[in-house]
Amino acid sequence: MKKTKIDLEDFLKTILPDQKLLKFLSLARDISKKRGEFLYFAGGVVRDYLLKRLYKKRIPKPKDLDLVLQGNLKSFLKELLEKVKGQILFESQFLTYKVKINLNGKEFLIDFITARKEIYEDIAKLPKVFASHFEDDILRRDFTINALIIGLSPPYEGVLIDLVEGEEDLKKGLIRPLYLNSFVDDPTRIFRGIRYKIRFGFNFSEDFFLALQKCFEKSALKKLSGTRLANELKLYLTKEPEKNLKNLLMTTYELKLFEEAELKINKKNFNSLIGFSKELKGEISEREKEKIFLFGLVDSQFLESLYRLGFPDSEIKELIRYKKLIEENLSNWEKLSLWEKIKLFEKIPSIYLLTLGIYFPKIKKDLINFFKEYKKVKPELTGEELIKLGVKEGKEIGVLLELIRKEKIEGKIRNKEDEKNLVIQFLLNKSKN
Ligand code: ATP
Ligand code: MG
Repeated sequence: MKKTKIDLEDFLKTILPDQKLLKFLSLARDISKKRGEFLYFAGGVVRDYLLKRLYKKRIPKPKDLDLVLQGNLKSFLKELLEKVKGQILFESQFLTYKVKINLNGKEFLIDFITARKEIYEDIAKLPKVFASHFEDDILRRDFTINALIIGLSPPYEGVLIDLVEGEEDLKKGLIRPLYLNSFVDDPTRIFRGIRYKIRFGFNFSEDFFLALQKCFEKSALKKLSGTRLANELKLYLTKEPEKNLKNLLMTTYELKLFEEAELKINKKNFNSLIGFSKELKGEISEREKEKIFLFGLVDSQFLESLYRLGFPDSEIKELIRYKKLIEENLSNWEKLSLWEKIKLFEKIPSIYLLTLGIYFPKIKKDLINFFKEYKKVKPELTGEELIKLGVKEGKEIGVLLELIRKEKIEGKIRNKEDEKNLVIQFLLNKSKN
């Protein structure tokens, strides 16, 4: 066990999203000291702090804090929350607590974790967990660079503890699992490893490939549940810088993970998949984006593959139906008028429509114009105003609003005055017939 004294004050100053938390942490330390329970930082914050020191890299401050306690966390939190304003928001089956605290009117979320041992009884299934020593808690982790801890309270206050040569691997730039069966126990670690490799520009260690081989031998990726697989892939989109997406997907492809997880994807989609998220910034919600990303990843010839990602039958069938609708018009696409294309697009809900833009590059340009522009074109005149102009209540109002919209989109009319004239012309023609 390698122990190095570090400058705790410098560490805290560097990692804390807000200096208000200093006092809170000092209180937490005092309580754990009094109770004789060891409190420490682990994982991402420790890794990023050391990375920063080693490579002088600019690393963003963590959005939330993880603190680990070797001891009785529930009773520790009870004592802590008698002294600080706050509450437990959520308690998980893995002995973790999400806590909201309020410091001078500002709220912070802190994840408190019990130092624990994990036992994997089944391949690729969630483990049984037991409260345990910090050593076990280090050894349950995914990679050596994520297995470093920094103590906040005695007996290792201000000490960096390294049981697995994680500091060496940080220096060498290596992603190394802690044991060879690591990916059999939890194949999501492979995707996590890819994210760290690309994020930090590191390499996989030899052990990484040996562990991967074991995982393939045991078909562990096939046994990983659809939702867990989908979640890992979504993290490529949501947790990593946008510019890394192509690399993340290519690395996953080259390691044959999609194949091994029985997910039929199409490499040809990668480029449009990356483009769509850029082009539609601000136009769709994050949730929609994630869904389109997963839809767009799979090979459109094998949409059944979406069952593997846990999508419900109804959504997959709907996507198949809309795909047919576009396919029927594809050979004729250039000959369709702008209005005809718009009418077709309007039959399809946005999530499916954008997915189809990824499958069929031929329609992409029209689709983006539709989303950014034409979809938003609406008549300025209201139904009531139409009635005042002499339009009969009922079906005719809808017909006219649609006509105004068409002429606006085609650039034949521009403002409200033009709209009024169009209506008057329409009514005149009608009275002549
Ligand atoms: P990031 O900067 O991406 O948040 P992180 O290291 O903080 O990186 P988290 O997903 O926040 O990653 O997890 C916190 C820590 O929990 C990790 O550093 C790792 O030690 C441990 N961990 C998370 N997921 C796993 C897993 N599937 N298997 C083993 N350990 C894990
Ligand atoms: Mg984290």
